[in-house]
Amino acid sequence: MMISQAMCDKLNGQIKLEFSAAYQYLSMACTFDSMGLKILAQLFQQQYAEEREHALKILGYVQEVGGAVKLEAVPKPRGDCKTVQQIVEAALESEVAVTRAIGELMEAAIADKDHATQSFLKWFVDEQVEEVSSMTDLLTLVKLAGDNVLQVESRVRHQMMQTE
Ligand code: MG
Repeated sequence: MMISQAMCDKLNGQIKLEFSAAYQYLSMACTFDSMGLKILAQLFQQQYAEEREHALKILGYVQEVGGAVKLEAVPKPRGDCKTVQQIVEAALESEVAVTRAIGELMEAAIADKDHATQSFLKWFVDEQVEEVSSMTDLLTLVKLAGDNVLQVESRVRHQMMQTE
């Protein structure tokens, strides 16, 4: 194995965290859908797919360096968020937590003098900047719109069409 056992365990932990984030986004997408907010539901479905890809990317790396993949139980998504703002706040909180976890992985890779894992993690460091930034923008938009959630839908739809 090209990485330490401790690093392999940490990467397995990150796979679980990414799948947990994916599952949480999927649950939030379903909540938006049940509220009739189809565009936000679509956006969060996309986030779900992205988080799942992150998990699979790490899984592939663990296999590539000769480590053993150990899949763990994914926790039940939180269901305490009732309003659009609460949901987006929880999503931002989750992105901040994932960013912290990636940072801790990077610090461990540096302490291990594990250059391969440092190089691999760099993509995730950049990705998290984007994730936190876009979720912060969405929260700002939701706060500005106040009770007018349809305005959020129309703005998000516009942004999604531009990035297509
Ligand atoms: Mg992720």
